[in-house]
Amino acid sequence: MEVAIVGAGLSGVHAALELAAQGHAVVVFERSGSVAAEASFAQGGLCAPALSPVWGALCGTQPLALQASGLSDAGWRWAARQARSKGWTEFRQNALLALTRQSLARSTLLRRQLQLDHERSEGLLVLMRDEAQTRKAQPLVEHWQAAGIAHQWLDAEACRRQEPGLSPDTPLHGGWQLPEAEASNGRELCLLLKQAAQRLGAHFMFHTEVRALQAGKRPALTHAPATQAGLPGASQRRDALAAAGPSTVPSPREAQTHSFDAIVLCGAQPGDALLAQLRLKPAMRQVWGRTLTAPLRQLEAFPDLGPRANLIDDCHQLSLSRLGQRVRISGGACLQPPSRGDKGFEHLHEVLHDWFPGAIQSQQAQYWQGSRLMLADGLPLLGASGAEGIWLNLAHGGQGAALAAGSAQLLAALIGGRDPGLDLSAFGPDRLR
Ligand SMILES: Cc1cc2nc3c(=O)[nH]c(=O)nc-3n(C[C@H](O)[C@H](O)[C@H](O)COP(=O)(O)OP(=O)(O)OC[C@H]3O[C@@H](n4cnc5c(N)ncnc54)[C@H](O)[C@@H]3O)c2cc1C
Repeated sequence: MEVAIVGAGLSGVHAALELAAQGHAVVVFERSGSVAAEASFAQGGLCAPALSPVWGALCGTQPLALQASGLSDAGWRWAARQARSKGWTEFRQNALLALTRQSLARSTLLRRQLQLDHERSEGLLVLMRDEAQTRKAQPLVEHWQAAGIAHQWLDAEACRRQEPGLSPDTPLHGGWQLPEAEASNGRELCLLLKQAAQRLGAHFMFHTEVRALQAGKRPALTHAPATQAGLPGASQRRDALAAAGPSTVPSPREAQTHSFDAIVLCGAQPGDALLAQLRLKPAMRQVWGRTLTAPLRQLEAFPDLGPRANLIDDCHQLSLSRLGQRVRISGGACLQPPSRGDKGFEHLHEVLHDWFPGAIQSQQAQYWQGSRLMLADGLPLLGASGAEGIWLNLAHGGQGAALAAGSAQLLAALIGGRDPGLDLSAFGPDRLR
């Protein structure tokens, strides 16, 4: 089959690999100049079963720590709708958990088979600063128990043995250890997977925007050269894209229409013309957050500076990931792009310093803010779109890194006419119509 993929983030690159591995002729269309240029760029990288958004729903808080400031009326309506949808049925929870597990297993297999060598670390410690916070998170622990997710309570002393760099001055009640979790550098992974897909014959068209889709037995798409200046966050990414080199197949200057046997949509924005053409008007929003990534200081006298693995600060809803010799701290869930003068990055510095004082080389810190596409119910859109020949693999919200490998594997099975072996009805677009 000839298959087109729209978008070369984690979802699109994983899909390209899976489909090319099945012998399909794959072409990926990406409006930016490289893979992982949008949400997948410098995201937290944490891959763990049953964390967000189950977390907020189970603990009685909003599914997202939505920041009230600057929300438009539409934003409030969306937040209210999301709160209403927090009645997570067992069906949906189980579907999400099964997809995450499938994904973690698929990532492990791909890493071994393709001998991928990228920045990553295993294990997660969810830190609780005091007893009240620990009690509040109890429903989540019960959920882990019921779902058979391996977890173990460590008291403060055991946490510090596990993570000797934790500040002795910062109050710590204890933490839950989740050995199944891991974190990895998503952009580096995307670059490696792209190379693997290319070895299998996949073709990448960068700086190429898909402007229209046409359903049918031989679905078609119309693409044209993208104007970089119009892309969100283009100026921040310019240096990184330049460093990525000219991995570009030049596309013709005029708009072109090509037909395929299947088209997979792995990138879109709320109000996107492509979604409108598919008659999909889901309550979809961009949810903004930020990360800070910095090299760890290397001091012989203090070999334990910084985290050894991955942590979540439950109180601040921030994650800290160990990526090679660097640490990344990630957080924020806001419906508006952060404004000038916003103290968000200072907050990341403060929390990092609170847990691991003096651990990073601050002058070399890299700052990134980005948004993930999210539906009101927090579940991705995965499967047939309802329009003939067009498939969906997008809106993975705050779990796109964790879900990318499994989603692509299952979608490739569906497109190839095989049984995916997992009930994907929870993720279908019918729930939105
Ligand atoms: C601050 C932050 C922290 C996060 N932390 C985590 C985490 O710890 N763990 C986790 O699992 N997830 C995390 N996420 C979520 C994760 O980053 C996303 O879910 C994931 O990267 C989505 O990947 P994607 O490929 O679907 O989307 P993207 O990476 O956004 O890729 C979509 C691509 O499609 C392209 N595109 C769109 N429209 C078109 C078009 N018309 N024509 C051509 N190209 C097009 C875009 O340019 C883009 O490159 C985080 C997100 C943020 C913002």
